[in-house]
Amino acid sequence: MSQDKLQKFKQILSDNKQSLTKARLKTFELLLGSEPQSMNQLISRASGDVDRVSIYRNIELFESLGIARKVYIGWKYKVELSDIFTDHHHHLVCLSCGSVTDIEDEQHIEDFITSVAGKHDFAVKGHLFEIEGYCQLCTRSKAM
Ligand SMILES: [Zn+2]
Ligand SMILES: [Zn+2]
Repeated sequence: MSQDKLQKFKQILSDNKQSLTKARLKTFELLLGSEPQSMNQLISRASGDVDRVSIYRNIELFESLGIARKVYIGWKYKVELSDIFTDHHHHLVCLSCGSVTDIEDEQHIEDFITSVAGKHDFAVKGHLFEIEGYCQLCTRSKAM
């Protein structure tokens, strides 16, 4: 595991007076370097190490501390680490199969957001930007 990221994780917990438990560390490791995962995927990968309730509690804690974030697929969601631990990116979200694809290196998205905020004299601290629809596989199989 990248020592850097582990260090940052520990720092955020201690800055917020949260202790580093085995279950929190394991939950963090499950998220690290992974594509967005559903809660069920996380729970099944954690089986034996961290129980279901702790996974839910840890994810809520991570979200409130800005360690992890939810990517919504309709009313469901998947979880991934926040921009602190990954390169800033956006997603293409398939509403049919639930696949989540990263959109990286799209500088014009960033430029667009900066320019919109600029028009409103708004100091940007962050943004969410996701594209919802149907992936190529789903479009093909349904002949939409
Ligand atoms: Zn799909
Ligand atoms: Zn962006």
